[in-house]
Amino acid sequence: MIAYRRKVQMIFQDPYASMNPRFKIRDVLEEPLLVHRIGESRQEREDLVTQALAAVKLTPVSDFMGRFPHMLSGGQRQRAATARTLILSPDLLVADEPVSMIDLSTRAEILAMMKELQRQFGLTYLYITHDLSTARYFTDRIAVMYLGRIVEIGSPDDVVDHPVHPYTQALISAVCEPVSGQVDIIKELPIKGEIPSAADIPAGCRFHPRCVFATRECSELAEPELETVGEGHQAACRRWREI
Ligand code: SF4
Repeated sequence: MIAYRRKVQMIFQDPYASMNPRFKIRDVLEEPLLVHRIGESRQEREDLVTQALAAVKLTPVSDFMGRFPHMLSGGQRQRAATARTLILSPDLLVADEPVSMIDLSTRAEILAMMKELQRQFGLTYLYITHDLSTARYFTDRIAVMYLGRIVEIGSPDDVVDHPVHPYTQALISAVCEPVSGQVDIIKELPIKGEIPSAADIPAGCRFHPRCVFATRECSELAEPELETVGEGHQAACRRWREI
């Protein structure tokens, strides 16, 4: 598991909570090196820490090494958290809402940095978010989940512009649109009811209690599997052709 963890790293939603507040940034980045026994000397590890901080543009590096996490802005903390993952040369980074707690003006910078790092280090991201706009900007493929199961998957253009599953359609229609200088906040959404308990998943199609297209078959037959609805585009709805 230790070898696996080195290849699969995680960027958390709240970078502040993911760092020991008593550690300086130097120590925050050195800790994974110690855990994975990388670097034979303190100097060698310090060089790796310097490279990782430079890669995420926390420069001049010497200004940041000795700071505690509370002495950094939200954007700087997320950069430091990203550096901590990069220092292990991972293949896959799981990024859980990495910009949702960051000031709006800094979000684009962090996402641009993550894209640049992806090119530089050949990374794959699994980007978890509720924000369709950043998902569209950031990803090559989007998988929409409902109650723990993928109900639609495809390219951002397919999923956002031509959603097939009724749940994805409801998500897309929930996005506010500016109309003649006003924001259309209150809309009639194509969805009903409340989210059921994840501990008591509805029989048949798990979305049927909320689906405006549901028929008796949807609750009585087995749960629909993902099926191809276009090139590289799949959805789990038995009525997608009619919808
Ligand atoms: S299978 Fe039925 S209930 Fe499920 S999403 Fe499709 S139409 Fe709605």
